[in-house]
Amino acid sequence: MTENQERIVVVTGASRGIGRSICEVFAGPGTRIFFNYFSPADPEAEKAAAAETVAVVEKAGGRAQGMWANVSVADEVDSFFKKVMGEAGRVDVLVNNAGITRDSLLVRMKEDEWDSVISVNLKGPFLCTQQAAKIMMKQRCGKIVNIASVVGVMGNFGQANYVSSKAGIIGLTKTCAKELAPRGVTVNAVAPGFIETDMTAALSDKARDRMLDTIPLARPGKPADVASAVAFLASDAGAYITGQVLHVNGGMYM
Ligand code: NAP
Repeated sequence: MTENQERIVVVTGASRGIGRSICEVFAGPGTRIFFNYFSPADPEAEKAAAAETVAVVEKAGGRAQGMWANVSVADEVDSFFKKVMGEAGRVDVLVNNAGITRDSLLVRMKEDEWDSVISVNLKGPFLCTQQAAKIMMKQRCGKIVNIASVVGVMGNFGQANYVSSKAGIIGLTKTCAKELAPRGVTVNAVAPGFIETDMTAALSDKARDRMLDTIPLARPGKPADVASAVAFLASDAGAYITGQVLHVNGGMYM
């Protein structure tokens, strides 16, 4: 990347929550952000949410473009990256953030609950990393940051599918870090703890209180707490860090 080139940042699943906050933290002059989202349930509401992410980035003086693409479908990921390359010609940062939950106790978990979570949370980052890696290897530079979870190292009741996907993304991070290091590309993970977003809003007050009891800093995290860790790993200050998992959890796991 030369001094006059725009920094091109790709964030998956950024119509809300942590993804939107990641876009906000990268926003600014000289940076262009491409993000995707995917909501078969309510496409109109999701389009409005994506427009809100664009507005947040523009308010901070940056440029952003949201595109509808399902990270778990190879053709859609391929078109998404073709569009980014067509418009920007390079990718400097990829943040694999898109994720879903379909919680259920192991013995009751349905096959499609397992498959959908593994598909979005693990196959998605594989497909997006594969696309970005080809581009970054040619560039001989790039930063990839994967959003894992504290439960990927601790395990969690009722989340065999989600925990397996997040443990898997940690393995993916370390393998990609080894394979891509010779070409100047770093790959790291950020593992959030309990962060206040739509994903955790569904928890009952009791479950929330139980969770808070396990956090030494005695508060839930904010999306911005995660976003600033991502920005650090993607910055020049994090240039000598690769294959690592940065925990952002208020001390919930040490
Ligand atoms: P969220 O508020 O539910 O947002 C999820 C985002 O992912 C949305 O923009 C959603 O877009 C997008 N998405 C979902 N499925 C997608 C797909 N197939 N293709 C493309 N985009 C898709 O979740 P969040 O809390 O911000 O979580 C973000 C990441 O952090 C996830 O990987 C999650 O596992 C991880 N994390 C969260 C917490 C927490 O406490 N919140 C803790 C640890 C880790 P649509 O709505 O359009 O589908």
